[in-house]
Amino acid sequence: MNKGSAVYRGLIILALFLVSLTPGHAATGKAAMVKIGLAQNTAEIRLAAGGETALLDLGNGDPRALPWPGDQALFTAIGELIYLNEIPVGRGPLLVVPVTDFVVWDEKRYRGELIIFNQNGTLNLVNRLSLENYLRGVVPKEVPAGWPMAALKAQAIAARTYTLANSERHRNDGFQLCATTHCQVYEGVDGEHPETDRAVLESDGLVITYNGRLISAVYHDTAGGYTKDAAEIWNYEVPYLKPVPAWDTGSPYSQWNRSIAWDELRTQLGKAFPELGKLRQLSPAAFSDDGRVIKLNLQGEAGERVITGEQFRQAVGLPSSHMKIGIAYGLEPLITLWWLYGQKNPAAIISEPEVPEPVMQEPEAAGEVADWPQLQGKPPVRLVINGAGRGHGVGLSQWGAKRMAEAGYNERQILEHFYPGAKLSKMGTVPDIAGEFVSNVSK
Ligand SMILES: [Zn+2]
Repeated sequence: MNKGSAVYRGLIILALFLVSLTPGHAATGKAAMVKIGLAQNTAEIRLAAGGETALLDLGNGDPRALPWPGDQALFTAIGELIYLNEIPVGRGPLLVVPVTDFVVWDEKRYRGELIIFNQNGTLNLVNRLSLENYLRGVVPKEVPAGWPMAALKAQAIAARTYTLANSERHRNDGFQLCATTHCQVYEGVDGEHPETDRAVLESDGLVITYNGRLISAVYHDTAGGYTKDAAEIWNYEVPYLKPVPAWDTGSPYSQWNRSIAWDELRTQLGKAFPELGKLRQLSPAAFSDDGRVIKLNLQGEAGERVITGEQFRQAVGLPSSHMKIGIAYGLEPLITLWWLYGQKNPAAIISEPEVPEPVMQEPEAAGEVADWPQLQGKPPVRLVINGAGRGHGVGLSQWGAKRMAEAGYNERQILEHFYPGAKLSKMGTVPDIAGEFVSNVSK
């Protein structure tokens, strides 16, 4: 028996094992494997492999070895079939197993195996690998590898917990998590770094739990002072996602200002909320206790509606929804109307000239824009925003973890701070299911 056929026989046994796995289910324990979607509904997939590579058709429950065409393989789909370099090879799914080197897709190398399957005449590409090898690719995409080890380990443990708790997220797509910011950014081997590898290895198998179940370990770049309550951002009460000091004043996004021309604002909000028609007026509809705008009222020529700060952030492309807002009215000289936290109604003060620095004092008067005679005959020129933070602000602040690590806190103390009431547990000692809350937003 030559070496090649022994390899193929081993692979067929492996393939039978793979097919028997329930899709979308991450087993906890030492051998936990994950399926990560690299490409979805694509017309073609180009793979390259430097070394010996095996290709198997797993279709019809009868795995069949196919010849690997060399260092370039172009997969396409027509109808229910998959074509390799323009020759039909079967219905798939196809399993690509590198034997002596990595397989390369989109100029990036991947550990583990690749699975190609036909979904309604288009192709999906999935990377199947161990959870720990996956995390080696994820952690350095989330935080700089040069950060202190306790911050890297906190990120590794949060990402491991997030991965397991969200393993059903892309169930209908045939994998568990995608490789973009929708889930967690993952680009294979080339993103790996020895320091983040060490953080993954030394935190091996650790997860965060609350009442014995995996938490939804959401995290973000910078909260901007205090982390946010999940109830405010996602309208869902979660006991361990409550505001705590964020420790992140060292972040470049600790404070920021934006100025958006009114025409540009109209275009952006028009795309997000076309039913409202051309924007006429925008004003706060609700404030948080610490004076942030958390709901906005949009008045358009065709309708009116209240949106959340998060919806506004997504529509306009802001770093976060932690903001105070004002509108500059023209012509020259511009007058800026700032809305600051009032006792009951949105209230306004006027500052001049147009600088994003409101005078932080209790407003003298509350009321509608029309109540300000200074604004008569002046059209809105731009929206000015005084903001803080980057991301949704719920759970772990990455810049906060860095600062806590610099101050001497370890990963357990950092995680217990940002997820109050939660604790570290070993995988395998907790059920392989998440708590009831699974977030729709990881950033
Ligand atoms: Zn996703």
